[in-house]
Amino acid sequence: MVEIKNKEHCNGCSSCAASCPKKCITMVRDKLGFFYPMVDKDACVHCELCISVCPEQKKAQPVTVTPLAYAAIGKEHTIREKSSSGGVFTLIAQWILSKGGVVFGAAFDDTAHSVNHIAIESLEDLHKLQGSKYLQSKIGNSFEKAKSYLEQGRTVLFSGTPCQIAGLKSFLKKDYERLYLQDIACHGVPAPAVWDAYLTDLEHQFGGKASHVSFRDKRKSWKKYLLRIEFENGNVYSNNNAEDLYMRGFLHDCYLRPSCYACKHKGLGRDSDITLADYWGIEQIHPELDDDQGTSLVIVSSPKGEELLQQIADEISLTPTDLNRAIEYNTALITAAKDNPARKKFENEFQKKPLRSLLKKYASTSFFKKLKRKIKRFLKL
Ligand SMILES: Cc1cc2nc3c(=O)[nH]c(=O)nc-3n(C[C@H](O)[C@H](O)[C@H](O)COP(=O)(O)OP(=O)(O)OC[C@H]3O[C@@H](n4cnc5c(N)ncnc54)[C@H](O)[C@@H]3O)c2cc1C
Repeated sequence: MVEIKNKEHCNGCSSCAASCPKKCITMVRDKLGFFYPMVDKDACVHCELCISVCPEQKKAQPVTVTPLAYAAIGKEHTIREKSSSGGVFTLIAQWILSKGGVVFGAAFDDTAHSVNHIAIESLEDLHKLQGSKYLQSKIGNSFEKAKSYLEQGRTVLFSGTPCQIAGLKSFLKKDYERLYLQDIACHGVPAPAVWDAYLTDLEHQFGGKASHVSFRDKRKSWKKYLLRIEFENGNVYSNNNAEDLYMRGFLHDCYLRPSCYACKHKGLGRDSDITLADYWGIEQIHPELDDDQGTSLVIVSSPKGEELLQQIADEISLTPTDLNRAIEYNTALITAAKDNPARKKFENEFQKKPLRSLLKKYASTSFFKKLKRKIKRFLKL
């Protein structure tokens, strides 16, 4: 029976709960809002299916293909504007929907306080999946739903983090001709409870409920993107990723899921057909493609990934690129987040002290400099 002794060994994908024949596994939130399986021991029949489908238990497969890589820009400006990088996800999703397919991806709930994986079947709903949401999304029963659509012969695009894609693949246990898997480059997923508390704090400050959140507002620049929150009363909060306290805590790795610090789903031998990333370093590698409005790095790992790109070829400008050079500017593609010594302290103090003061304390550069100095002094003793 699945038992989480070390949180680094669970990415929260829910493949165990989805596979349980007795439905005796519930995904339960911890203090930071991350989901972990809890087994009803009286109902468990010890079939061990939950363990056999856990993607964290699987050994990494040797890389057998050299992925192709491209710099890609969606030609339609309005799509690119709403997307985190070059808008490739939207174009792929549009093609799947035009074939009568179903697209799974991460969407805010109505309040923007949490993010869930949902299935959409129409273009009108596609806006819900566009754009990065920097907190872990809840998979819920998406894996079972995807399987059911596939069994009905429907085409399915499943988009998610590399660990979610690994979880789905493991849950399905076999290949489906009509299944397309797309993952994102993933720095790591921040704690849902921290985002919830942060948004609540801003709602108090701005005197109203949030009506729209964009983590990647490109109004000023793609590279120095803004977190922009519109409130029902017309107020607007907008701050860049270096100044906003939540984004600072995320990028300083203060509250990622513990498994992100030991992530084994990165690298070039991915479970997905196609990987989408921000093409950081574009101004150095292909300066002619950099207009600071967002360029995607697209990594194709299978013939299905190639097919997806071919289907949208007329709608993007595509330039073959050197993957190794691109990785130099985007190490999250191959390496797990570095463990942050302040992470445990942050978690211990979360909900006990005001969030803003905690973020100021742990997500400021000066804190790390101070810590580094302290460690250096300690080592010299
Ligand atoms: C938590 C997180 C960390 C990331 N870290 C990096 C990084 O280090 N380097 C990098 O190059 N790119 C990173 N990205 C990916 C990048 O920001 C873009 O999502 C990607 O380039 C696709 O962009 P797009 O323009 O094609 O489409 P977009 O419309 O921006 O992409 C939307 C897609 O992202 C998925 N998505 C959004 N939020 C989540 C979420 N919380 N969980 C799972 N899936 C989600 C949606 O389901 C949808 O399929 C990260 C994204 C997230 C959510």
